[in-house]
Amino acid sequence: MHELSIAREIIAIVDAEMEKGHFDRVKAIHLRIGALSGVDPEALTFGFEAATMDTRLGGAKLVIQQVPVRANCRACGHEFTVEDLVFLCPQCQSIDVDVTQGQEMLIDHLVVD
Ligand SMILES: [Zn+2]
Repeated sequence: MHELSIAREIIAIVDAEMEKGHFDRVKAIHLRIGALSGVDPEALTFGFEAATMDTRLGGAKLVIQQVPVRANCRACGHEFTVEDLVFLCPQCQSIDVDVTQGQEMLIDHLVVD
């Protein structure tokens, strides 16, 4: 299960920060997940809760902000939000576009005690 390994990665990163003594308890982990990252937020939350149960991260909440897909048209320079994975410039109808946002999966910030 893809999401479970991502959950473990997140836990490893946060655990490493705790080891450094920056904080003792994590209330929430805020994530930014792009619509193209292929991560299912529900499955990730489930995997995270299962993997943190009975650990010092138990009870920490995952707060997932979904990032929409944005692209830049190479033909006319127009930047636009991609709806329903249609990679077509709404201004000049070109399909020669660069994805500028939506592939990320990162920890935005932590809420700690
Ligand atoms: Zn264009």
